[in-house]
Parts: sequence; structure tokens; C-alpha cells
Amino acid sequence: MPVLVMKFGGTSVANLDRIRRAAKRVGVEVAKGYDVIVIVSAMSGKTNELVGWVNETSPMYDAREYDAVVSSGENVTAGLMALTLQEMDIPARSWQGWQVPLKTNSAHSSARIEEIPNDNINAKFAEGMKVAVVAGFQGVSPEGRITTLGRGGSDTTAVAFAAAFDAERCDIYTDVDGIYTTDPRVAPKARKLDKIAFEEMLELASLGAKVLQTRSVELAMRYNVKLRVLSSFEEPSDTAGTLVCAEEDIMESNVVNGIAYSREEAKMTLISVADRPGIAAKIFGPLSEAGINVDMIIQNIAEEGRTDMTFSCPTEQVKRAEKALNDAKDRGDINFHDLVADTNVCKISAVGIGMRSQSGVAAKMFKTLSDEGINIKVIATSEIKISVLIDRKYMELAVQALHDAFELDKAN
Ligand code: ASP
Ligand code: MG
Repeated sequence: MPVLVMKFGGTSVANLDRIRRAAKRVGVEVAKGYDVIVIVSAMSGKTNELVGWVNETSPMYDAREYDAVVSSGENVTAGLMALTLQEMDIPARSWQGWQVPLKTNSAHSSARIEEIPNDNINAKFAEGMKVAVVAGFQGVSPEGRITTLGRGGSDTTAVAFAAAFDAERCDIYTDVDGIYTTDPRVAPKARKLDKIAFEEMLELASLGAKVLQTRSVELAMRYNVKLRVLSSFEEPSDTAGTLVCAEEDIMESNVVNGIAYSREEAKMTLISVADRPGIAAKIFGPLSEAGINVDMIIQNIAEEGRTDMTFSCPTEQVKRAEKALNDAKDRGDINFHDLVADTNVCKISAVGIGMRSQSGVAAKMFKTLSDEGINIKVIATSEIKISVLIDRKYMELAVQALHDAFELDKAN
């Protein structure tokens, strides 16, 4: 039998009614002849509550016990989903991560999946079981302790199962009806995409379109798992949602497929640093040790052996970055006249695989911003993305103007 993976997020299993509604969807796929692996999240809000309890009990908690506690939300929904399916006369049973077993490394609270043997579940399918309901987000370490995969990790569980069972598709049921060209709250003309390439989704996911855990998209790309994101609140149809797939599976695509933004960015400039070999390493080494997520970097042309170095990072990391750089200065590792932080910027990015083969995207982006009187402070590009830093107060305007300029409200 072909296997289908269906993942239900927290809002889709938030109460017994919603679990029943989700189970009906599973029933529809079983009736089509699939063996179904259902991955469930905890009921919405549950994981936050569990994390809160752990912190209240033990601020310097033992990560192994943190995992033992926070993984429990998924156990409840897995059992309830199996019971609901049984009530519908669909042969189903639940599996906790360790029972599969979903094997991970020992990095508690952010474990990585190492292996998912499929023999236990396949043996049950062979006996006539139609649905394996698996608790998402959790696994078991080589030491036999329960692990969790990091917040949002059920998406990654789902994709990993789809890869391990060679599933036809992995459907991610959530509370939005797909991936949009940009955030509809910022640009009301945002359009739902029918398809998006893995690479584009990765750029959009890491830029703040928080629909899928980034790791799940990386995994889907590596194993070429077709991912569909769809709402569990909409009527079922074959064209619902957005398919996240390989570039080859997309016949035609706009040059730019999405405008992403990140509101809380900061621009930091080291004024007048010595321009000599090794200086960039001396600046960015301490920043990386301090866990600063440096994104864009610009080094100006040197004059009389000195230059300015600018980089961007999340606003919340500015204080830590300043400390790391001032400490390096105190140690005599680097020398600069001043360190200037601009915390009133945001990052806007145009993303599209079509950029690989079409030129002029950058020019159009810059012209559009200039027509709106928006000054660009930093520019960075990759093969399928152009990002700019601009004043935060222009964020909405910039997203809307670019969405219009690239005609993202129209398909192709
Ligand atoms: N319940 C976990 C969380 O809230 C995992 C998930 O739902 O993906 O992070
Ligand atoms: Mg999620």
C-alpha cells in the first residue's frame, strides 16, 4: 500500500472536536487506499505550559527531565487520536517515539534524528492496521532517555517519517491555508502559492515566515519529500494548500516568488579598524563565540590603511555583540575608533529561484524603493535572494511596493 504522512499541528488537535475533525480527514485518505502515518503535536498551548512548569520547578533544570516533561503533550494527543480513529472503526494504534523507535543523538531539547527503523510499524500495517499515530517532537537517545527535537519539531518528525517510509507525500495540517507571497497582514494583496521550491521555502522560513520548522524543509529537500502545507479548517480538496517541492516539479514560476521581512534587525558599524590580514577573523571570531547571528557583512574601501566594517544581527543581540567587540578591543585583539549601533532598521528580501536565470531583479528592487523615497543602508545577495536593510518605519511600505512591482498578486 502507498504510505501517506499526515501531520496535525497544535491548533488542529486543540480539543476533542478538532481531533475528531482531523480523524475524519485521516479516514478520507484511508478510504483512498493509503496506509497512513499520523504525526501529532500537543494540543495548542500545552507545550508552553509544560515548559513553564519545568522552569518554575527548576530554573537550572536537568535537560533530560525537561524532555521527559515537555514530550508528554504529544503522548496525550497520540492516544486520543488513536482512540478517535478506533471509534470510527479504523484500525489504529499510537506510538511514542521510543516505541518506534525514533533514534536521536543525546542533544536534549534539540536532538537530531539519527534513524527511524520502519519494521515495527510496517509489521503492523501488514497485519491490517491502517493508521499509525505517532507522537511528534520526541525520540530516544542512545542512553535510552527521552529526547525532544526543539520547538516546532513535529514538522521534522513528519518529514523524517515520510523519508523513512518512502511516503507519497507529507501533508502538514496547520491553521493557515498555505504559503503566501508575503505576510497578508502586511500586504493584503498577498497571494497563496500553489507551489514553492524547497530553496525558496528555506529562505522564506528563515526570514520569518514561521509556518514550517526550518529543519523540516532542509530534511524534505535532502530526501526529496513532497510537502504540502494546508489548513485543517478548510474543506478537503486535491488542490488545497501549497506544495513545497523540488525545483524540477515546478513548470513555471515568477522570477520573484516571495517578499520576506524581518522587523527586528540592527546594523552595527565598527568605525576605522585597521585594514590588514586577519582583521575580519578577529572581529567575527568573538561574535560567533558569543552566539551572535551575523547576517550581512560589508567592508568599506580602505583609506590610509583603515576601514569601516558593517554587519547586521538581530536587535536583541546588540548588547551581547557590543560586549564581545569591546572585550576584544580591551584585550588588544582589535582596534576601532567607535562602535555605532542602529537599532531602527529592518530587513526586506525578495526571493525566487527564477533569479538564477533572469537579470534585472536587483535593479528593479532598488528602483522601486527609491521611487518610494526609501534609502537602502546595506545590500546582500545570494543566488535566489536579494536583501536590503532599510529604516524600520518604511517596512510595510517597502513590502507592499515590492509586492506590487514584482506583480506577486498575479500567478506567472
Ligand atoms: N509541541 C511542540 C511545540 O510546541 C512541537 C510541535 O508542535 O511541533 O513546539
Ligand atoms: Mg509548528
